[in-house]
Amino acid sequence: MITRSFSAHRAPVTADRARHWTDNALCRRVRDPEAFFPVGGGATVQQQIDDAKQFCTGCPVRMDCALSAVKNGWAGVWGGLDEMQRRRILRNHPDDHAQGIREEWARRLYDPYFDAYLRRTEQEDGGHVRWTNTSTSITVLGRTYTPAQLALWIALGREAHGTVKAHCGRSGCVAPEHIGDDVVRMNRGRKRAQAAA
Ligand code: SF4
Ligand SMILES: [Zn+2]
Repeated sequence: MITRSFSAHRAPVTADRARHWTDNALCRRVRDPEAFFPVGGGATVQQQIDDAKQFCTGCPVRMDCALSAVKNGWAGVWGGLDEMQRRRILRNHPDDHAQGIREEWARRLYDPYFDAYLRRTEQEDGGHVRWTNTSTSITVLGRTYTPAQLALWIALGREAHGTVKAHCGRSGCVAPEHIGDDVVRMNRGRKRAQAAA
């Protein structure tokens, strides 16, 4: 469950409290914390997300912040990362979040895959996402993807193996966390078998 928790950055610094990384948070000086919680989709929101990430690059406690956000499932931009990036870290680096964070930081601020995805999708209730474009294929950096394949790239940062489809029950859903290919389904099956054993 993603929770919105900006209050940590507003914790007062007092003599009887041990110093915490939030004491040095650059965003404590921001008048409008909403800048870190862009809502919705489209180019304007993507620009707000990029601006917030850019702001975080100058923050001395960026790693502590990103680690806390990954661990606690906060919503919004934290540690220079958006929610999609943090979900990718949890999937690809479940045992070494710091490594995943460094890899995400190394990615360019502008992500052509994410940009293509955001421009052609719309958030729906229940965490589902709808493909809004009339075209059912999209070319990014010279390679053509179906909406589901693009969603898988957003989730995992890799090409798909085998059939890509949603496992949430909503027909045509392209929410990255609801999409899986043969590898994802095999891993999910293994986890279920281990849990049942
Ligand atoms: S990394 Fe960004 S969100 Fe985190 S404390 Fe620093 S400025 Fe705030
Ligand atoms: Zn879905």
